[in-house]
Amino acid sequence: MEKNKIKHSWAEPFKIKMVELLKMTTSAKRRKAIIEAGYNTFLLKSEDVYIDLLTDSGTSAMSDRQWAGMMLGDEAYAGSTNFYHLEEAVKAVYGYKYVIPTHQGRGAENILSKVLIKKGDIIPGNMYFTTTRLHQELAGGIFQDVIIDEAHDSANTHPFKGNIDLGKLDMLVKKHGPEKIPYICVAVTVNMAGGQPISMGNLKELRAYTKKHGIKIILDMTRVAENAYFIQQKEKGYSGKSIRWIVKEICSLTDGATMSAKKDALVNIGGFLALNDKEDYEEASNLVVVYEGLHTYGGLAGRDMEAMAIGIVESVSDLHIKARVGQVIYLGEKLRDMDIPITEPIGGHGIFIDAKRFLPHLTQDQFPAQTLAAELYVDAGVRTMERGIVSAGRNPKTGKNYYPDLELVRLTIPRRVYTQAHMDVIAESVCNVFKNRNKIKGLKMVYEPKYLRFFQARFEKLK
Ligand SMILES: *Cc1c(COP(=O)(O)O)cnc(C)c1O
Repeated sequence: MEKNKIKHSWAEPFKIKMVELLKMTTSAKRRKAIIEAGYNTFLLKSEDVYIDLLTDSGTSAMSDRQWAGMMLGDEAYAGSTNFYHLEEAVKAVYGYKYVIPTHQGRGAENILSKVLIKKGDIIPGNMYFTTTRLHQELAGGIFQDVIIDEAHDSANTHPFKGNIDLGKLDMLVKKHGPEKIPYICVAVTVNMAGGQPISMGNLKELRAYTKKHGIKIILDMTRVAENAYFIQQKEKGYSGKSIRWIVKEICSLTDGATMSAKKDALVNIGGFLALNDKEDYEEASNLVVVYEGLHTYGGLAGRDMEAMAIGIVESVSDLHIKARVGQVIYLGEKLRDMDIPITEPIGGHGIFIDAKRFLPHLTQDQFPAQTLAAELYVDAGVRTMERGIVSAGRNPKTGKNYYPDLELVRLTIPRRVYTQAHMDVIAESVCNVFKNRNKIKGLKMVYEPKYLRFFQARFEKLK
């Protein structure tokens, strides 16, 4: 090390006011628990988990201001003050004209799909998301993946693996005609690709192309602030812009958005549908009454909308995002140094271990990622989840399994919840499992639910 180099470390931009004690478990107890859970980490009891990296959804720690906001809940059936605060926050931070609250992201996806999709329509997207694609299919649409090829290769270090391949999109437009494509669904920091961002340049090209063909862009804006961070760090011309500024520019290139506020917006429950088109909005605000609740509460309590309004503003702070993504990168670099095969570049909300490379002796039909998630839990009580063949499900027409190129285990980091020491413990546990990986046997599926099977499927160990 250079002796006189001045060092400026950074730390979390908050201090801790309240703590929740963790539950320690024993290896024998965990072995029993995972068998009872059918080797599915979604079926474990939270009290049997030590460090919970199942998801970053609804697991954030709220700030003192958000908790104070909860006390200001206006629980009127109609026209709650908190709805207007939410509307103000969405307009100010994201810039959309109309907003309809929903109980969470999939509530918005359901309404949006019903408003925009007709039977037989094609819905292109930059890789699928489980609930998004299912709602498109239930509304009669057919999903088509138009993400760049690099996204399907976990070792490829392209800085914007969430980008859309405009050539693939153009082929769809030529084949089916633009009138068959009501919108393209664009996800920011693409979850299934490993939290990989889309560039502003790509989004601008897409805007120009879709304008020409009369196709809308609907943003899955679940992790828009995290995507903005990667644009700030990696894309030319954005290093001097604030996260808030970049977020607004992303939204300005789209016609509407579905939001799971349980992620970026730092709340435990909530979401919304945002639209710029008045007619689409009117239809959606009528439909929401059927599925969620009146358009001024959409399945949420007034206090939940208040916490969301405050969380939206906190989520676009530069200091917050730097620490949030910084913690993910800290863990990722540790694992990389231990030669653990992870998705590169390191994504925004978690580390994705490549189970095909971690357990090369298992075939994809032996569920390597599902197997690895179970093994990680047994080793030290760290709960992760599968993002591979189980999550991908079956083609609704042919009934055949999808075989995704990516077979990943997601270590998802909740926002503002764990410390750097927790990251160290997690890395050690992954390393322990890696050392003994040759002895690990695969799984067979013994129960398969019809929809979103990864949540409730059950497995047994192969002999
Ligand atoms: C979580 C998520 C959703 C669905 O939101 P819910 O709040 O879980 O219903 C949609 N898209 C992406 C990218 C997500 O991560």
